[in-house]
Amino acid sequence: MNLQLNGYPIKIAAPSILCLSMEDTIQVYEKQNVSAQSFCFHPDFFNTAHFSEAQGYMSTSLKIEIGLSLYFKDIVDSFDWEMAQIQLNILGESQQVGVEGLKYAADRGIATVIMEPLRGGYLLNNVPREVTELIRNYPEKRSLAEWCFRWLYNMPEVSVILSGMSNLEQLKDNLKIFQYAEPNCMSDEDENLILKIREAFESQKSIGCTGCRYCMPCPHGVKIPDVFKPYNSYKFMKSNNDRYVYQRVLMPSNSGADQCVSCGICEKQCPQGLKIPSILQQVHYEFVEKRLTR
Ligand code: SF4
Ligand code: SF4
Repeated sequence: MNLQLNGYPIKIAAPSILCLSMEDTIQVYEKQNVSAQSFCFHPDFFNTAHFSEAQGYMSTSLKIEIGLSLYFKDIVDSFDWEMAQIQLNILGESQQVGVEGLKYAADRGIATVIMEPLRGGYLLNNVPREVTELIRNYPEKRSLAEWCFRWLYNMPEVSVILSGMSNLEQLKDNLKIFQYAEPNCMSDEDENLILKIREAFESQKSIGCTGCRYCMPCPHGVKIPDVFKPYNSYKFMKSNNDRYVYQRVLMPSNSGADQCVSCGICEKQCPQGLKIPSILQQVHYEFVEKRLTR
């Protein structure tokens, strides 16, 4: 679909979610390849956004549903929403709107779309040894990714799980995992395993940064996710090389946590709700002032 948003060309690959504000203007130039898209927009969108020459071009089979990204439970009752996108994964049972928000939306007949089921890859890239052991010793043999997805599709309130895939192998894995997906499939023992996995992740005390970069750019030059990455690596690997990366690469280029003035701009953008300025202070303290030991 050939599109312009506010005068700039944009591309949307299906399935996609396009978030628009009341001031946005969207123009559709070609009707080829128009396929099912879900649009997330302000309730007054149709009264305020201008579809330039769009009417004749829009596919008649195109179904536009009104949805929202659900960050606060209260907003559910503000409109007759048809879809709610919710961030949820085994680590974030009560983060953002959590399972409670999921059930609240589903109870009102709203289809729920789960985003970040693997927390942007964080869950698979920062696996504590204890988690590997737990999974290896469990009688039912499943990968961590499968347990993460299973925990989600076990809940009848979940309509769709969005899983970002970057290669064919991941696609094949996901197809295998979801082949037998059904709600209420987990036993009490399975739930207990998830609880232990969660505890093992939490005991690692790493920063739940997914590297999405929504917090960037920092007006003071702090490369926020690049600062968090070696810290998490240190917590995982216990290698002082990560401290050197911070001290010898990030600090000399004025992109370390020491440049932060705690303005709080970044914090408002972080979908993980991380208290970025105070975490940066902690990272700097641990990497520079406190002697890290193996
Ligand atoms: S709080 Fe710190 S890291 Fe965040 S935008 Fe402000 S200066 Fe940058
Ligand atoms: S917005 Fe939050 S999760 Fe995303 S990169 Fe920044 S700190 Fe990490």
